[in-house]
Parts: sequence; structure tokens; C-alpha cells
Amino acid sequence: MAEQANDLMEKLVSLCKRRGFIFQSSEIYGGLNGCWDYGPMGVELKRNVKEAWWDSVVRQRDDMVGLDCSIIMNPKVWEASGHVVNFNDPLVDCKGCKARFRADKVYHVVFFENGNPVHAAWVEADDEQSAGREAFNRANSKTRRRMQLHQEGGRFETEIRRVDRLPSDVKALCPLCGHELTQPRKFNMMFKTYVGAMEDSSSIAYLRPETAQGIFANFKNVIDTSRMKLPFGIAQIGKSFRNEINPRNFTFRSREFEQMEIEFFCHPSQADQWYAYWRDARFQWYLSLGLRSEKLRLREHEPAELAHYAKGCADVEYAFPFGISELEGIANRTNYDLSQHAKFSGKDLSYFDEETKERFIPYVIEPSAGADRATLAFLCEAYAEDEAPDENGAMQKRIVMRFHPRLAPIKVAIFPLVKKDGMPEKAQAIYAACKKASLSAFYDEKSAVGRRYRRQDEVGTPYCVTVDGQTLTDDTVTIRDRDSLKQERIKASEVVRYVQERIGAGGM
Ligand code: ATP
Repeated sequence: MAEQANDLMEKLVSLCKRRGFIFQSSEIYGGLNGCWDYGPMGVELKRNVKEAWWDSVVRQRDDMVGLDCSIIMNPKVWEASGHVVNFNDPLVDCKGCKARFRADKVYHVVFFENGNPVHAAWVEADDEQSAGREAFNRANSKTRRRMQLHQEGGRFETEIRRVDRLPSDVKALCPLCGHELTQPRKFNMMFKTYVGAMEDSSSIAYLRPETAQGIFANFKNVIDTSRMKLPFGIAQIGKSFRNEINPRNFTFRSREFEQMEIEFFCHPSQADQWYAYWRDARFQWYLSLGLRSEKLRLREHEPAELAHYAKGCADVEYAFPFGISELEGIANRTNYDLSQHAKFSGKDLSYFDEETKERFIPYVIEPSAGADRATLAFLCEAYAEDEAPDENGAMQKRIVMRFHPRLAPIKVAIFPLVKKDGMPEKAQAIYAACKKASLSAFYDEKSAVGRRYRRQDEVGTPYCVTVDGQTLTDDTVTIRDRDSLKQERIKASEVVRYVQERIGAGGM
């Protein structure tokens, strides 16, 4: 299982590089850990993800407005929000190899047979389940076979403990080299910088670790200028930065990433309803763009997991090849943030309801998603290997990215069958019509047509149009469907409408 998962991730990372979805940042200098660049295909894909989000939460609604705040803000924002004091990860260092880990991501796993320990390992993992899997993989083959044989017999038991929850007299060991780890200490994840020419404590500023605080800081501006009345929301897409101790799993945990966040303000008495509404609406959004329901789950946090001010929180989680992990969090943050900013700024951030004549600090429901994580989930979901016929009808292996058509980087590719007899000119004219209609289109006249199809399959293009001999007599073309592989003949003048109808609203 784990090997298959690693294999899938490896194949995906290699496809992303080979076909221009995602590159390592500054690769020619050896890269920079936790930073990624989106290539020509990736930038279209991620843009489509962000546009689908913006369309669904802003354009299609009349109770939401957008915002685009600066990345560097007055540092007091981060004092008020609690980030200066609380935005810490527990960090442990290896006294031997000096590797650094998040203490909540290192586990001690022990397997018992009939009550006797038979295998123990220190592993780095995102959750208990992955820790158990990793420890199992590290057991010798004899133990692994016995465990597999007896899995159902109940003779094996597993104990999994997180390093930051170990009793203080237990020595934690390094998952890489086995030397002792230091005690956990706090590490603030905000990137610091200096504003202006002086590099001293008075000029310290931070790169925002989330986009949400810009929304709270502008709450009054929006109320005063937009005529929005409660309940309403403010949405923002933008870069955020976190100095993650161990960036990993490709773009899943990066140091620079993009968030798509909503703060939805309402009367405290309506907060529970709006929380339930957004939790379900956001879950549906991922389904509507092609993530399969058996790979998605909505996990309500236990009361003990909640921040002290939060009344409810649920994560939308996706079964990535490396484990089930968070895509988005939806939280009822009560009036905590607005109250904090009112306190620290000295400004009145309450809301006056003209109808009821009531003045109060609104509650806020926060659906907070990651554009890169969503994009990675859509990439994982799309990856498939199957067979398709080549020009001679023989079946050939192919890699196909089955993106939802709305997310596909290229919507339609146009090919002349051969580079003569006026076919390129005809194909160019169709290509120009697609471009004019703002469809993301691609023209290709190189190599055999079967190879051209396969190249498009690899980047997930839902439709390929071929101009052939018949086109020159009756002005029809073939249009091939990426998934069903069916080819239809349609009028050349119908191509734009055909594709537009099938890629869904707002798709370009
Ligand atoms: P995690 O527990 O995975 O670190 P979090 O609970 O701290 O995430 P939030 O602070 O709730 O995350 O951020 C909201 C969303 O922003 C996450 O659901 C995720 O999609 C995205 N996000 C957060 N940190 C990162 C990161 N380092 N890289 C990529 N996306 C991130």
C-alpha cells in the first residue's frame, strides 16, 4: 500500500516536472526547500482552481464581497491576532545528526505480539495512521509477514505515542539516525523582515502567515463603503508565508503558499446555522470539481482540539497518496478576532443593526482553504494510466490526467492531420476562433496524430479537434473526448460552442 502510494507520488511529481505543471523553485541553484514554481500548465490549473472558488463564493452570491490586502501589514495586527505569541510549532533537534523535526510529527510506534514487544520504531509522520504504516514498513520481513498473517487474529497490538506527549523521563530518539532528540521548544513560524532603511526592533514586520487578518482589519472599511448588511462575507485569495519546520509532501506543506479565505460575519444567534451551512457548502465544492466522495471526508474537531475562542471547527480532508490530510478548515471563531482588533486598535468594530437597533460584535465563520493543496488534490485525483488506440488501432499505454473540464489547463487542442493540402490553414482558423472566445486552446502540427493525442492526455486536455481530408470537402472535423475516447464529427463552426457547453460555467 505505502509503496504504491509512494510510487504514485513519484509518478505525479515527475509528470508535473516533465509537462510543466510544477517545478522546484530556483532549481538551477539547487532549489529552496518548501518553495515551488508553477509552470505553464500548472499556472493555468491553479488559476482555474482559484477562479472556480471566486466564482462560487463571490460572483454567484450577493452576500459576499472581495478584498486584496497587502502581505506586509502593521505588526500590531499580529500582536492582536495572537500570532506573535502563539503561532508556534514545537520543535525538536537531533543531538547527533542535527536534523530538525516538529515534535507533533514524530511518533514512537511499538508492535506487540501476545503482549510482548516485537518491533519498535521512531518515525516522522503527519498522523498516527501514517506513523503506524511507516513503522510497519521498517519492520523486518519476517515480522511483517507474521503481522499480516495475524492481522485479523488480534494477536498483534500497536501502541503509538507522539513525541510532544511523552512523559518527560522518556528519551525521544531521532527517526533518521537514532540519537537522542532535545526537549520540545517553541519556534515562531512567521517570517520576519524590516521595513525601511533601519534594521532594528522598531522596524520589524512580518510576512502574513494567513490572509484572514487583512479581512478583519478592513471590516469597518467594507461596512462603511459597500452597504453590506449582516449576514455577509468578505473573501480573499493571496499568498501567505510560514516558516514550516519540515516542508514536505510536494506542495502540500510549503513555506510560501496561497490561501483562499472567507470571513462570514453574522449575528451570534445565527452562527451555528451559518457554520453548518459553510461546512457543507465547502465540502460540496470539492465534489463538484471532481474529487470523489470516497476520498473526501468532513471531520468535526473534538472539543479538546478547538482553540479556546472557537465554538466549532471541521476539516475537509482528502485521501492523498501520502495519507488523509487537511484541505480546508471551517471554523466558528465567535467574535474573537474583531474583539481583539477593537482592543488593540482602539477602534469601534461593532455593528449596528438598523432594524433591531441592536449593537453587537458579529460572530465570524471562517472557511479557510489552500489553493496549492486544492490544486495538489485535483492533480492526485486526475492521475490515471490506461490504454488508448494509436493511429493503427493498436492499444498503447497512456497517462491521462482526468481533470474536471473546468479545471483543465487547456480546454481544446487543434491538429491538422497532415501538414499540407490546406489542413494547417483550416486548423489555424479554428484555433483562432477558440482564442477569440477566450478558450484556452493549443495548436499542434508536429509528429503523428496519435502522439499528439497522448501529449494532450498527459496534461488533461478534454477535447482534441482534428482537421482531415473530409474537412476540406464538407467543413466538418473530428472531436475526440479524452475520457471516453469517442470521436464525433461536427461542423468546424460548431467547435467553440461544443467545447463551451461541456466545460461548464465560467470555464475559459
Ligand atoms: P496544518 O495543520 O496542515 O499545518 P493548519 O491547520 O495550520 O494546517 P490553517 O492555518 O487552518 O492550516 O490554514 C488554512 C489552510 O491553508 C489549510 O487548510 C491549508 O489548505 C492551507 N495551508 C496552511 N499551511 C500551509 C502550508 N504550509 N502549505 C500549503 N498550504 C497550507
